[in-house]
Amino acid sequence: MKAMVMTKICDLRENIIPLELRDVPKPRPAENELLLKVLTCGVCHTELDEIEGRTPPARLPVILGHQVVGRVEQAGGKAGQFKVGDRVGVAWIYSACGRCKFCRSGRENLCPDFRATGRDADGGYADYMTVRGDFAYPIPKIFSDAEAAPLLCAGAIGFRSLCLAGLQDGQNLGLAGFGASGHLVLLLAKHKFPRTRIYVFARAPEEREFARELGAAWAGDSNEMPPLKLDCIIDTTPVWKPVVEALERLDSGGRLVINTIRKEDIDKDYLLKLDYPAHLWMEKEIKSVANVSRSDVVEFLRLAAEIPIRPEIEEYPLEKANQALMEIKERKIRGAKVLRLS
Ligand SMILES: [Zn+2]
Ligand SMILES: [Zn+2]
Repeated sequence: MKAMVMTKICDLRENIIPLELRDVPKPRPAENELLLKVLTCGVCHTELDEIEGRTPPARLPVILGHQVVGRVEQAGGKAGQFKVGDRVGVAWIYSACGRCKFCRSGRENLCPDFRATGRDADGGYADYMTVRGDFAYPIPKIFSDAEAAPLLCAGAIGFRSLCLAGLQDGQNLGLAGFGASGHLVLLLAKHKFPRTRIYVFARAPEEREFARELGAAWAGDSNEMPPLKLDCIIDTTPVWKPVVEALERLDSGGRLVINTIRKEDIDKDYLLKLDYPAHLWMEKEIKSVANVSRSDVVEFLRLAAEIPIRPEIEEYPLEKANQALMEIKERKIRGAKVLRLS
């Protein structure tokens, strides 16, 4: 089968073709697994973190991709509810131990044995992949194969970040960064909190324009001041400056939720500008988001179908995965990027 394979960790400023198109053996499902014919796979900023070594794969080579929509081609005897021909999704959570205190309390995203799809196991940048039956999700009929892909990471983790924000209807929400996750959180927040006004901070003018089109009350550059202080800000940027700026834009008692798996070190010096009275005092809080649980994925897919949320998609053939990744690196983003497998 065809796969875009990651063979080494590299610096994307020097190597703009990090993945290699290879012919690799088709995987075989275990008793508790499904073999999926991959239909689409979303491209995520986290893949840049893997390639550049901020969250390195457990082994190399590895097939990236953790927002997978596939059709069940084979099901092991103990693979559970799904049967051949079903359309299912796979998310960032590939497996967890099922026994630790986190798994037993519905916080399997924090499990010390958490394994990530497309990092600790081969993912969806390929014609086929395998997944445990109990870590796959039915895809609601109303979504096309391409629309469903970004819901599985950008959407599900965006949903988790909005839950952790603890927002109440009518409070003012800020979104720092407006990529795949930001635009889905905006649509979700408008539905869950109809009286809430949303303020978007984005560096690129096109992203700000896009945010206004989707209903943001205000959109500005990350260094601009919104017309009022915000009750909660969700940061999806890969750097530090927006964190410090967001803290200054928070109202007393406000909460900053950082929804990023890793931050890059390039502007870490900016943290020295942290000023206790301006940025932290008055009971401001900072919380990070880690991974995603199965119930986040299930609950978000249900909500997304009910609203319905239709993500903005840019499609690429599998062979153009490197191009899609570099466009994310260079922030040429409008909505979500999805690979289509032929
Ligand atoms: Zn992702
Ligand atoms: Zn566990």
